[in-house]
Amino acid sequence: MSQTPAQTAPAGSNAADRLTAIRKLIARAAADSGRKAEEVTLVAVSKTFTAAEILPVVEAGQRVFGENRVQEARDKWPALKQRFADIELHLIGPLQSNKSIEAVEFFEQIHSLDRPKLAASLAEAIQKVGRQPRLFIQVNTGAEPQKAGVLPQEADRFIDLCRQTHGLVIDGLMCIPPVGDPPSPHFAFLAKIAKKHGISQLSMGMSGDFAEAIQCGASHVRIGSAIFGQR
Ligand SMILES: *Cc1c(COP(=O)(O)O)cnc(C)c1O
Repeated sequence: MSQTPAQTAPAGSNAADRLTAIRKLIARAAADSGRKAEEVTLVAVSKTFTAAEILPVVEAGQRVFGENRVQEARDKWPALKQRFADIELHLIGPLQSNKSIEAVEFFEQIHSLDRPKLAASLAEAIQKVGRQPRLFIQVNTGAEPQKAGVLPQEADRFIDLCRQTHGLVIDGLMCIPPVGDPPSPHFAFLAKIAKKHGISQLSMGMSGDFAEAIQCGASHVRIGSAIFGQR
């Protein structure tokens, strides 16, 4: 059983304390699998929280943050980015292709590339804007109808399409296992697809399952509620 960080953080703790607790758990999970803590990037998922709620976490040293909506991120991050120049923003939620330019302008990484139309519009936006965020392809490993991500059986073809037809550099793969499934088989499956294509980064693991993800090779864990509290 995985411990949820809410259980391990001291009672009455604030977001900065919870961040410290999570960092320790990440280091422990990495050590347990013979990995270095520096191999795992913590993406602190700040969606729905205000700039004022995020500030203490930035002040505690966190620099990489995940948001799932372009507009929300553009509303609340510019002021913080002005104060802390090295903040890195990752888009982890579904992206509409008509927002590709805004996303390419604003985010350092995009974890939700998942369909041909979006690949085409991101390639065009990268050309137009002259900026190249790191790109992750989201794979719907559980083939859930309501969930974003390319279907597992289409992943190989989609990775090739992104690279060959659109000239995109694919840095990583991302997944969100189905609620209620043991997550590790999904993580292992994602790692297998990545390996087959020579892709080195894996964005997988959230508040409830990041230790398992690290064990399966996660390079990025996306942790929201265990740091910021319930949304
Ligand atoms: C909200 C969200 C997370 C963080 O989830 P928690 O369970 O709060 O840690 C991670 N990844 C994606 C894609 C999300 O939308």
